[in-house]
Order: sequence, then C-alpha cells, then structure tokens
Amino acid sequence: MWVLSLVLWAGWGEQMETVQTLMETARKDTLAYERLGELCLGIGHRLSGSKGLEEAVVWGQATMEKDGADRVWLQEVMVPHWERGEEHLWLTEPTHEELPFLSFGGSVGGVAEGEVLVVSSYDELGPRAEGKIILFNIPKETPGLEGYGDVVGYRYGGATAAAEWGATGALLRSIADGSLRTPHTGGMSYGEGAEKIPYGAITVEDAERLQWLQDRGTPARVKMSLGAKTYPDALSHNVIGEIRGTTYPDEVVIVSGHLDAWDVGQGAHDDGAGVIHALETLRLIRELGIQPKRTIRAVLWTNEENGSRGGKSYADAFGEGTFAAIESDLGGFQPIGWVSTGTGEQKAWLDRLLEGWGLPHIGNGGGVDIGHLEPHGTLLIGLRPDDTHYFDYHHAPSDTWDAVDERELREGLAHVAALTWLLANTEE
Ligand SMILES: [Zn+2]
Repeated sequence: MWVLSLVLWAGWGEQMETVQTLMETARKDTLAYERLGELCLGIGHRLSGSKGLEEAVVWGQATMEKDGADRVWLQEVMVPHWERGEEHLWLTEPTHEELPFLSFGGSVGGVAEGEVLVVSSYDELGPRAEGKIILFNIPKETPGLEGYGDVVGYRYGGATAAAEWGATGALLRSIADGSLRTPHTGGMSYGEGAEKIPYGAITVEDAERLQWLQDRGTPARVKMSLGAKTYPDALSHNVIGEIRGTTYPDEVVIVSGHLDAWDVGQGAHDDGAGVIHALETLRLIRELGIQPKRTIRAVLWTNEENGSRGGKSYADAFGEGTFAAIESDLGGFQPIGWVSTGTGEQKAWLDRLLEGWGLPHIGNGGGVDIGHLEPHGTLLIGLRPDDTHYFDYHHAPSDTWDAVDERELREGLAHVAALTWLLANTEE
C-alpha cells in the first residue's frame, strides 16, 4: 500500500500547484461567459438537423483552432431530423382558450380532439381510454418514483401506452419544478408497430387544472394540432480538439459537453455550459503553456438530445484507449460534486485524485454521451452542479444565456479544468 501510494503521488506537489493556478485562472476567466453568449445569443437553439447546430459546429471548430489546439477535426455523424412546425393546443370545454404547449421531439403531426382522461400511471389506463386524449399527470417528485429518471419513461413510452387503449392523442405534465406556465419538451419514441398518436407537454399549472376539473366531474375537451414532421437523417458533426500528451499520447482524457439543444430557448444550461467547460479547459491549459502527459481531448458532442448518435459514433471510431472521460451536462450552476462509472479500483483512484482540493465524489453516474465509452473500460465522470433550479429551465424556452450565472459557470470550469489536468498527469 505504502509503495503504491509512493508511485501514485510522485510529482504530486507539482501537480497541485498547477491545479491551483488553473483554478485561479478559471475563476477570473471572462471569456467563458462571453463565449456562452456567442453560442446562445449569436447562434441560438440548435436541434439535430437544424441550421443552428451546424453553425455551432463551425463556431466550435473555429474557436478551438483560434485557441491553438494541436489538432482540431470534425467527425461526421448522421443524425435524426425532426421539425416542430406550427402547433397549438386548445381547451375547448369547459372554456375555450389556447394552452401553452410543446410537442415532444419525434412526435407525429396531425390533429386530435377529444375528452381528456387524466391518469397518474399506466395502471389507470384501460378501455375507458378509447377515443380520449390521455393526460399523464405525474409530478416530478412523485413518491415511489426517482424524479426525472423515472418520469422520463412516461415521456418516451406514454404515447404508445395510450394508443394501445385506443387514445387518439396524449399529453404529459411538463417534467419541471418551477414552471411559471412554461411547457418543457424532450425526446419521445413509439413502440415497434404501435399506432402513432400526437404527444406533447403541457404546463404543470394546466395539468393541475385538468386534474381539478376531472376530480369534480367536470368534463374537459382539448384539440391538439401539430405540424411536426420527420425528415431523412441529416449530416452533423462531433467537434474534436486535442492537446497531445508528452508521455502517453495514446491515452486520451476527454472533457466534454453536447453542442445540440432543443429547439426552444437557447440551450444555455443544457448544454451550452458544458460546451464552455470543455472549450475553456483546453484554452486555459494552452494559455498556461503546460503540456499534459496524456492527450487531452475536448469533444463537443452532436445529437445528445434526440438520438445520442454523436456519443455512439465517437465510441465506435475512437473509443479504444480512452483513459477517462468527463461530461458536464447538468447545467451551469454551482458545482457540488462528481459522479462516476467504473471499476472499484478506478473509483478509489478518483477518490485519491480529489483528496484535499476537489469536490466530493458523491455517487454513480456519468453522462449520456460518454456512456457509450463504458465497454472500453473508460473511467466515466460527470460534473454534478446544484440542481435546485435546473428543472425550471430544462428543455424550455426559459433556458437562455441570462439564466446562467457567470460566477457559477466559472466555478464549474475551475473544477472541470483541474480534474482534467490531474487525470491527464497522474501516474497510475
Ligand atoms: Zn443535455
């Protein structure tokens, strides 16, 4: 044990000095927030298949080249191409008014009209669902469910479950905390051979209201009109830039976020913040003129939101030899810890790396994009910020540049840059 520690910590003091310098520089980095503005305000939303996403690809590549990465390249990825089009949801009984609504990515277009049946689980579906519009009213913090991870199953599977009982359309209470009558979109899918019915999100407030009406025996009717269309797959790109390692160039440490974002808002927390964490980590290291032992590679993933094809394509082509991978994809809030996926040995090693300076290692996890690297035995690490307000903005029109706090964004950067450095330099 003593011998092992000696090997692990050779040069540790020197590494710690670099970590402190990196963190201090990151905490003063005004370019991070400025660049988030370029992405969010200059380009805006950027769903797979959109012009915005490919503008962001060009921007990401140009930014890495300007920052002096040793090598910058684009990896071609074919991604799904779905467009929302014009859409409306009207309450037609007991009053007549339009309700805020966002269809889910992948939904079919079309018109559906009928009485609303509010349910709180699949078990409450049955023959009475025939010809109805089903509203799944499942609060994010439902006892017995594990928050977003469980409710999101209804977003992916709800339309198919409702259609199996003859429903003509389906709605889901937005998976949100503070909603302020904003609908929150996201990905969905249809089961093999299932009847495809329109599906989308209504606000928390309107879900509560429709529940209230049903509980009092007042029938409510809605009309959904969706202009959504699915087009043939489109060409997109992962943006990749690296600083070559001096001692172990073939061992790669990834620092990453995803470039695509839903077609509402500006994708600031999800995941502009992660993109900035990755880009700025590379730039800070370059600026300090320090050379890592392992290769550090910043990856801006394409198509995390509705297909995860960017992560998969990367792992298929370049996954072998990936030593460790960080993903920042839970918003630009105050960072509170790290989550990881790996062997007991890898996790223990990460614990030792974080000792004395880093955020606590608080549990299992990683990131959707880096998750594809798991079969390669890569140590996967996710940055975990305080998520108290994350679901006020997640997949919603409210996810804009101003919703990210500059100091908190920099604080996340400080930790991402520091851990990236240690992963790339600590002897195993
Ligand atoms: Zn995301």
